[in-house]
Amino acid sequence: MEELQPLFPQLNLSRPIIIAGPCSVESEEQVLKTARELAHNGIKIFRGGIWKPRTSPGGFEGIGEIGLPWLQKVKEETGMLVSTEVANRAHVNLALDYGVDMIWIGARTSANPFAMQEIADALKERGAEIPVLVKNPVNPDLELWIGAMKRIYNAGIKRIGAIHRGFSTYGKQLYRNPPQWRIPIELKRRFPDLPIFCDPSHITGKRELISSVSQQALDMNFDGLIIESHCSPDSAWSDKNQQVSPEVLNIIINSLVLRDECSSTENLALLRQQIDRINEELMELLARRMRVTCEIGRYKKEHHMPVVQPNRYNNLMDQLVRNGEELGMSEEFIRSILATIHEESVRQQLEIVNGNK
Ligand code: PEP
Ligand code: MN
Repeated sequence: MEELQPLFPQLNLSRPIIIAGPCSVESEEQVLKTARELAHNGIKIFRGGIWKPRTSPGGFEGIGEIGLPWLQKVKEETGMLVSTEVANRAHVNLALDYGVDMIWIGARTSANPFAMQEIADALKERGAEIPVLVKNPVNPDLELWIGAMKRIYNAGIKRIGAIHRGFSTYGKQLYRNPPQWRIPIELKRRFPDLPIFCDPSHITGKRELISSVSQQALDMNFDGLIIESHCSPDSAWSDKNQQVSPEVLNIIINSLVLRDECSSTENLALLRQQIDRINEELMELLARRMRVTCEIGRYKKEHHMPVVQPNRYNNLMDQLVRNGEELGMSEEFIRSILATIHEESVRQQLEIVNGNK
């Protein structure tokens, strides 16, 4: 994806680019009312799901083709660009037939290379040039996400963006789809020119948390936000707990703090030098730790001991969590660091025990 082009050259947008609109298109009245209020507050890009991928059958699966003329009306009346989700060839063709300005691909679809290829082929057959945003797959697989975008790029689409909407998990969590920020951050590192949007609605699943996740995304230099907004959120046909009214959306957007990188980097130079030194020390420490790990691995091999010893690991984890908390670090952070280091140690020891190293 070497030659990406600006997503919305016709609009004069500054960071953060905001895309807003209801989870689902429900009726002409609901769509137009929501769109008018959003446009009045300065929103330039409207979203509305026409086809809805629902986890269980029997729920509202989208209004379908009859909703597309309503999106056209939104465009004519408010001047906003309109967008919807596509999941197959028929959706792509209909969206293009009705002049949808931008499409996005949902998290369940981007996880499926067959579906992604079908969508890419359909776009190519039509010679489409509209911007395409690709949500991360439901599972935290960066390569699968990149692969999905490359299929679209290879179909001749140069206006591509990514949407980070968090990743599925099992069990009850604070977030509906925990963000695992390191994944979009790695995506940005590998593709600095690829615009990345955050979708705080699907990450949080709760309207009260949208503001804080949006701020975190901006602090991590995301380019934009896609937020679900409905004229009457509590009566929405899908995702009602995470939708906000256009009025509340306006308050959220206006309270976001945009930290301006250029004005402060000079003062940061000294602190950054310190960070660079600490990072070097960290690398040396980790390398030393790995060398000891390998020695232990050789000992375990000689004495026919199992590589993973859960008791030892649990004790170590508890001890380090306590130490870390005393030093002002969160339990979650310590646990995730230790889990990563431990995983690599186990991998190295397995290679030793199996004689590959
Ligand atoms: C949506 O944006 O309405 C949607 C279905 O999202 P996701 O694919 O992220 O679940
Ligand atoms: Mn939704």
